[in-house]
Amino acid sequence: MSESPRIRPLSEALANQIAAGEVVERPASVAKELLENALDAGARRVDIACEEGGVRSIRITDDGVGVHPEDLALALQRHATSKVATLAELETVASLGFRGEALASIASVARVRLISRRAGAEEAWSVAAEGGEPGAPEPAGHPVGTTVEVRDLFFNTPGRRKFLRAERTELAHLETVVRRLAMARPDLTLSLRHNGRQRLHFPATEDRARRLRDVLGRDFGEAAHPVALEAEGLAIHGWTRAEAGELHTFVNGRAVRDRLLQTALRRAGEDLGLEGAPAAVLHLSLPPDEVDCNVHPAKAEVRFRRGRDVHDALVHAVGEALSGAFVADSGGSAA
Ligand code: ADP
Ligand code: MG
Repeated sequence: MSESPRIRPLSEALANQIAAGEVVERPASVAKELLENALDAGARRVDIACEEGGVRSIRITDDGVGVHPEDLALALQRHATSKVATLAELETVASLGFRGEALASIASVARVRLISRRAGAEEAWSVAAEGGEPGAPEPAGHPVGTTVEVRDLFFNTPGRRKFLRAERTELAHLETVVRRLAMARPDLTLSLRHNGRQRLHFPATEDRARRLRDVLGRDFGEAAHPVALEAEGLAIHGWTRAEAGELHTFVNGRAVRDRLLQTALRRAGEDLGLEGAPAAVLHLSLPPDEVDCNVHPAKAEVRFRRGRDVHDALVHAVGEALSGAFVADSGGSAA
């Protein structure tokens, strides 16, 4: 019999790279994490600039509350977060982030620089990390808010870099992340530049329908039917169309692709004789303790405490919205 292999703890760097395997798949996943941090910091405006599909660089600048200079290096460390401190807080967490893993993961597989100035502070500070330990903070120039710069994604993990696709494919994924966020948060001003050219620009608006048209085009807006339902702590609102198409679902402001929600939409479509799920943009709000966002590494899936109720409410709400459409005429209008 051969000897049993001995157990050793992973090095911090390797542990981070393993964690990065779950969270950081491609430039779009980096952008998603950085955008969520900007939102959690209360940003009203977020500007994204990237090069070569985001593989060469992604730079995200926000006007949020900033990071305390003494916390800059900590922000890049694993399991360090300003968002939750206790289990009770975790169970009702309302921020998009809470694991304190994203920046550490990203910094383990890319060159990262974090530059930040707090409201009321005289100067900005920055720290940089290349595939691991951050260096010492240095004074920098930056308005109130934060910029995170991520360069040369997977420069030190060639095995992962091989899985990246063509520039335009990576850019398309990145744009999807930005468009989804734009749908979730019309109150934000958002822009995306790629290789020096502006690709997307969404000025802040209070008008959700207008934002929807900005993101999905006038056609979607013109043929869209409003969805609205409120019942027992669950609120659903959004738009749907009487034909198959893109489905975007948001739970408490978070873009999710959830099996339960997709099933409900398909069911609503089938009830009306459609093949598959109708095109829809749907926002669900429910108390934070009714939904568990801590079940998927990128938090792209969630678990509902009363899944059956959510499913039924969604089928009903979308069915109502569309049955009106079918009765009036199939080219009805709203939004
Ligand atoms: P999490 O978001 O789960 O807390 P992250 O690794 O994404 O973990 O970020 C670590 C910490 O860095 C955050 O808790 C926050 O305090 C700080 N941080 C990151 N990005 C920003 C930002 N854009 N503005 C202000 N603080 C930020
Ligand atoms: Mg985060």
